[in-house]
Amino acid sequence: MASIIPLIDVRSAAPLDAVLRAAARTPDAAGSPVADTRGRRLHDLRISVTDRCNFRCVYCMPKEVFGRDYPFLAHSDLLTFEEITRLARVFVDHGVQKIRLTGGEPLLRRNIERLVEMLAKIGDVDLTLTTNGALLAKKARSLRDAGLKRVTVSLDSLDDATFRAMNDVDFPVARVLEGIDAAAAAGLAPLKVNMVVKRGANEGSIVPVARHFKGTGHIVRFIEYMDVGATNGWRMDDVVPAAEIVRSIDAELPLESAEPNYVGEVAERWRYRDGGGEIGVIASVTQAFCRDCTRARLSTDGRIYTCLFATTGYDLRGLLRGGSGDAAIGDAIAAVWRQRGDRYSEIRTANTVRPAKVEMSYIGG
Ligand code: SAM
Repeated sequence: MASIIPLIDVRSAAPLDAVLRAAARTPDAAGSPVADTRGRRLHDLRISVTDRCNFRCVYCMPKEVFGRDYPFLAHSDLLTFEEITRLARVFVDHGVQKIRLTGGEPLLRRNIERLVEMLAKIGDVDLTLTTNGALLAKKARSLRDAGLKRVTVSLDSLDDATFRAMNDVDFPVARVLEGIDAAAAAGLAPLKVNMVVKRGANEGSIVPVARHFKGTGHIVRFIEYMDVGATNGWRMDDVVPAAEIVRSIDAELPLESAEPNYVGEVAERWRYRDGGGEIGVIASVTQAFCRDCTRARLSTDGRIYTCLFATTGYDLRGLLRGGSGDAAIGDAIAAVWRQRGDRYSEIRTANTVRPAKVEMSYIGG
């Protein structure tokens, strides 16, 4: 029998006033970088440009919940490209060096290339995008021309039947592979491939995916299935631990561990011993990396969230549309970041009573 998952709308904003008042009591040393209560700097910004997606991946936007009646945001609720760019600039002024466009499916947002072009002009920012690849063959060249530097493509299996079952809209894997080839040909490199591993769904695809991309220069990152949002019916038993993923690849394609590229890198790196490239594993459940988390998220309707597992965000769109200047918006961003103490993944257990968290499609995966 299909499980029915209750739908609770938790997309309400927390009041910014209290945060701003608290920040005013602890003025910051001029020019010092913005750090949170655990000393973590603001470095990355993920922007959800749409809460809609053309896939219904069973672990992310299950059909039973995100059906015809689901209350997706109205167009007027979405941040405009001008609003996104303005906020992005303010975030960059407060230390952000890396921006990832995501969603939902970012390539569904009309004229996304124009947004890329606007963001690329901000300057010295690592600009990238995560996509399911369905529209990538068509858009790779124009995205590159607009100034996109790299791309991450989600791909959960090479086996067509498994892939169709996981995206749950019967989308063929061959079309995503075409998108990956088009992105590589357009120079969107290094290209990363994200594979979420869910026990009983696609763990048989781990080694074939690793083998397929070995030697191509593309970097596959195997991601532990997480309890994001409130709708995917997550259970700890469904998680295939990163250590098990590494063991199964290593048994057939020998690996050795590699140093992180930088402090706080989310993926743990592994290299093929024969020089065939590298893979990463993202052990967000079994080896939480909250300690080094430097990511803020901007929801589709302009709220700032400081954790993927957050229950509340703070409304920046209200400031934008209410006529606040960049300095006031910057103060709000800094104040929200400074009071941040999130470390959900470090304290989660199989028995954690999970609050009604916002969905990944809205907050930005
Ligand atoms: N639509 C785009 C895509 O498919 O890449 C971007 C949004 S999606 C939410 C971003 C990433 O989050 C994808 O790689 C997806 O596989 C991953 N993801 C979604 N739900 C997840 C979950 N429950 N656990 C782990 N990763 C998840």
